[in-house]
Amino acid sequence: MKYISTRNNSKEYSFEQVFIKGLADDGGLFVPKEVKKYSTKKIHALSKLSYQNLAKEIIYPFIGDFMTVNELSDIVDKSYSVFRKDNVIDLIKLGDTFILELFHGPTLAFKDIAMQLLGNFYEHYLKKNNKDINVVVATSGDTGAAAIDAIKGKKNMNIFVLHPHEKVSLVQRKLMSTVKEKNVFNIAIEGNFDDCQNLVKSMFADKEFSNSINMSGVNSINWARIIAQTVYYFYTYFQVHDKSPINFSVPTGNFGDVYAGYLSKKMGLPINKFIVATNKNDILHRAISNGNYEAESVSQTNTPSMDIQIASNFERLIYDLNNCDDNETKKIMHGIKENGKYTIPRDKIAKINKDFLSASMSEKEILDTIKEVQAKYDTILDPHTAIGFGSLDKVNLEGNNIVLATAHPCKFPEAIDKSIGIKPDLPGELRYIMDEKENYDIISNNLSKTQQYIKEKI
Ligand SMILES: *Cc1c(COP(=O)(O)O)cnc(C)c1O
Repeated sequence: MKYISTRNNSKEYSFEQVFIKGLADDGGLFVPKEVKKYSTKKIHALSKLSYQNLAKEIIYPFIGDFMTVNELSDIVDKSYSVFRKDNVIDLIKLGDTFILELFHGPTLAFKDIAMQLLGNFYEHYLKKNNKDINVVVATSGDTGAAAIDAIKGKKNMNIFVLHPHEKVSLVQRKLMSTVKEKNVFNIAIEGNFDDCQNLVKSMFADKEFSNSINMSGVNSINWARIIAQTVYYFYTYFQVHDKSPINFSVPTGNFGDVYAGYLSKKMGLPINKFIVATNKNDILHRAISNGNYEAESVSQTNTPSMDIQIASNFERLIYDLNNCDDNETKKIMHGIKENGKYTIPRDKIAKINKDFLSASMSEKEILDTIKEVQAKYDTILDPHTAIGFGSLDKVNLEGNNIVLATAHPCKFPEAIDKSIGIKPDLPGELRYIMDEKENYDIISNNLSKTQQYIKEKI
């Protein structure tokens, strides 16, 4: 498959370039030159597969120039052997609502599902190419842990994770800072997640720096993550499919996970709607409901993984909305950079609403939802998942509604405690991290200091 940038669709890239670079040199995001629709017959055939075999079938056409079918097959099996469920995910029902549990990987959030694959993709790449690389990634809490687990101990690579100092949960931080492997470096930035993300973007843009360290990124714009995430939309669709429409409610920050769902729909999976569920950092809700895409300052909430104002993957949707017009996309993105906002025209909002609806949940609503669900179903939802669950009431759609459970509740004991007075336990095999020595360095929100730190470590 050939890829292009949303800001210049005449230059082609291979999957390997897309995977290693993350972001195009022109600042645009990589997308396939063309997404082929599966036939109904093909979709039917896919519906019979195990999670792992489905992943192989779906992912291979996107990466065919990077490895053989057999190599992918081995990587998928190896990546998913570390999950606590044979089928990777679990699907449960609370009343009429399905809960898609995506948190059975090593670091208890859905990010493991893509990241375990990426770690093994890097290993494959480094075996083929005699190189050293340094992965640098910003995290609002979950990406960092998932990336560290996927990359720790791998040869010829280091990982540097920037998290916002004192703005991730204790369990999130411990999952990152207690890892002992020598190729793992944790940096606490004195700022918020957007500051961390901006530092990483600036490091990439500084060609002299990024080339000198062979920098690579695994943030949520990395296309490899998106394709890995489409798999569970297919798998779940096949499990709940009857005659009614199927809707997915997706706790959203950077618009990566829900974009993967939208991609599965573009590939022919007949999903009705995606609900973009946000916390009070609601830029996407404002954009989707009334066209007001305008960054405000980020507030810290009980759902740190969604405390984001700049939803990086949204550019991919903007590109589609403008009928793949790269110049128009570039103009809009430059406008957003200059003015901090983009007013989406009415006709384009209508186009968005064919696939996406949205909702926003206040802090109180999130805690109340956790409480109600626990009282009614004796099940504890993590606060991010509670946003997905509560948003369903706000949009009120007919059919089979599926909420993506993006994290295990034990990752956010402080929030759960505030809601129901219980601190859920970590799974047994992870309890040791709470007493382990932590390793991380605190750095001010400063580009050259961060670059200097990385240079000194490698
Ligand atoms: C990352 C994350 C999200 C947001 O996902 P995006 O792909 O950034 O929209 C939601 N919930 C949890 C628990 C996460 O870790």
